[in-house]
Amino acid sequence: MLSDLKTDEPGRLRALERLNVLDTGPEQPFENIVSLVQDILHVPICAVSLVDRTRQWFKARRGLATPETARNIAFCNEAIKKDAPLIIPETQDSQQFRGNPLVTGEPYIRSYLGVPLKTPEGYIVGTLCAIDTRPREFINSELSVLERFAKVVVDELELRQIASTDSLTGAMMRGAWFEATKAEVARAGRYSRPLSILIMDIDHFKRINDRFGHPLGDDVIKSVAEVVAQNLRKSDIFGRYGGEEFVLALPETTIDQAYALAERLREAVKQSRLAAPADLQWTVSIGVAELAPDEGDLQPALERADLALYEAKTAGRDQVKLSAPSAPIAV
Ligand code: GH3
Ligand code: MG
Ligand code: MG
Repeated sequence: MLSDLKTDEPGRLRALERLNVLDTGPEQPFENIVSLVQDILHVPICAVSLVDRTRQWFKARRGLATPETARNIAFCNEAIKKDAPLIIPETQDSQQFRGNPLVTGEPYIRSYLGVPLKTPEGYIVGTLCAIDTRPREFINSELSVLERFAKVVVDELELRQIASTDSLTGAMMRGAWFEATKAEVARAGRYSRPLSILIMDIDHFKRINDRFGHPLGDDVIKSVAEVVAQNLRKSDIFGRYGGEEFVLALPETTIDQAYALAERLREAVKQSRLAAPADLQWTVSIGVAELAPDEGDLQPALERADLALYEAKTAGRDQVKLSAPSAPIAV
């Protein structure tokens, strides 16, 4: 069973993707762990390294200048191949690592200790590693400390998943949505791929609350979220933006494709009903915008989508509006 998981690279990458952690900003628990390992093991370098398709990306790092390196030179890529710690007391003695660019150049690795980060399903997504610029024997107690911290890293990765989900709707909470979307925006920029943003707000929702009470209002919010969730692809990022507002980031999606989805969602919401009162209807207004090529920043597209939503509201609600493309620079 274990050997199956170890060779199941697509499954491993999906497990890593599900963590929604790649390209996110620094977070305290991971910062604490790398700095504790640095102090306890007396190493100049420590990192939480996650091994992505073609790169290792550091969720937290000390003593390393770059946020990622190519996968094919990563020590951690060797460590994840086995379900055990990788210990290298002296890289100069190792045929395999002596000529590695991370040994012959920055950060000049001489010794390495890496412990696998294993998800509850059993996939090894990266390592917690301690690195020195001089040769050294890592003693058992140091290995044991690193192993215990590696378990804490995995627990934290799981915890931040739970904390990032809104309990009423199952959508991501605002902060988590921003984090996940920023990572997608970076990816879209890096590979010049399209990405669209869609903001949805329930129409005249105050009337529903006022007339039927807050708990029934909650049921309507939940129902809208269910309709959206049923129409999404796995790569779409769905967040609860505010009380009765939702936001979607759609990777690999042009504004025309996003418009088609938005129309489908608008219509599906309009057709949806609660068990009781069965005749109650509600609608949503939606604003859609596409990230401009090379924009590299989420905020302007979000503002354009918000403006389009406002236009949908003022034009009579229960409709989708597209944002005008960002104005060309006058010359
Ligand atoms: P509009 O068509 O302009 O959007 O009208 P609206 O009545 O929906 O106006 P608005 O979006 O400003 O009002 C949202 C209301 O949603 C206000 C707030 O009391 C209510 N609300 C926010 N969060 C929740 C929630 O979690 N549950 C319930 N039941 N109501 C909420
Ligand atoms: Mg609102
Ligand atoms: Mg509203």
